[in-house]
Amino acid sequence: RLVVLGSVNADHVLRVPHFPRPGETLTGHGYQVVPGGKGANQAVAAARLGAPVSFIARIGDDAIGRQMQAGFAADGIDVSAVERDEALPTGIAIIYVSDEGENSIGISAEANGALSPEMVKRHESMIADAHTLLLQLEVPLESVFEAARLARAHGTRVVLNPAPARPLSAELLALVDLITPNQTEAELLTGVPVTDEASAREAAARFHQLGIQEVMITLGAQGVYCSNPSQQVLIPGFRVTAVDTTAAGDTFNGALLAAQLAGHDFHGAVRFAHGAAALSVTRLGAQSSIPSEAEVEAFLLA
Ligand code: ADP
Repeated sequence: RLVVLGSVNADHVLRVPHFPRPGETLTGHGYQVVPGGKGANQAVAAARLGAPVSFIARIGDDAIGRQMQAGFAADGIDVSAVERDEALPTGIAIIYVSDEGENSIGISAEANGALSPEMVKRHESMIADAHTLLLQLEVPLESVFEAARLARAHGTRVVLNPAPARPLSAELLALVDLITPNQTEAELLTGVPVTDEASAREAAARFHQLGIQEVMITLGAQGVYCSNPSQQVLIPGFRVTAVDTTAAGDTFNGALLAAQLAGHDFHGAVRFAHGAAALSVTRLGAQSSIPSEAEVEAFLLA
């Protein structure tokens, strides 16, 4: 079983002709509230792609929180560790999408900020019983640390997708078995600007020095650079026409772990994750863009 610990956000999306300037009021269109949050996206991806998933998260006692929780359950996720906060609303993101396709985003942690180390401890047995724990950085860092510490103590594999980019302690990084940064995050954590295979190799070497055995640096359309004790290799992704890259990394992480749990070998799991992520970039939205296992299988055969 895979345990995902992380954020839940309601994404409020408004299309605008251009971003409003200070003091300006603009008329937008196409307003939508869609399920997002990196933790939720990765849990949904892994579940939709075949993994048994339990989700540790915190939502508000509000309609949107309940609606998203029902959505997780409909995707087959065990939501017994999704707790409802009495005092805070569900996490939110306010997103403007301009006609040029650029976005401008403000987020507020709300209930995600109350996912405390004490809450993590309440779910210690769930972490202990799991094969793998998947973490990101949209919940308090001390809780990420506590979860990684408990997982390590119980022999559960720790996977960290260090997004959004923020500085991390050597103590936390030393608890990680597999790290999956994108280029920005890899640069922030190692000081190496990652643009190609050679710079990715250098950044991966820094992660190994910090005690991390397995490194997978995602390089957008270029694919993923993988470095572990048995190989160092750049594995290209699939060529598709990108419509919206939101949640590409989240889909890659969920799909990779789902394929590994299903017993795919290393290259097979990366190929499956690339296929799932490529399909997600051809579609709009976060959780709405995540494909099913059957869709990925069909894409890989085509
Ligand atoms: P993030 O979304 O976290 O910034 P990346 O942009 O590195 O992550 O993308 C993660 C993965 O998504 C890539 O390794 C690849 O499999 C897939 N991907 C992203 N962008 C594209 C693209 N333009 N074409 C095909 N695949 C893509």
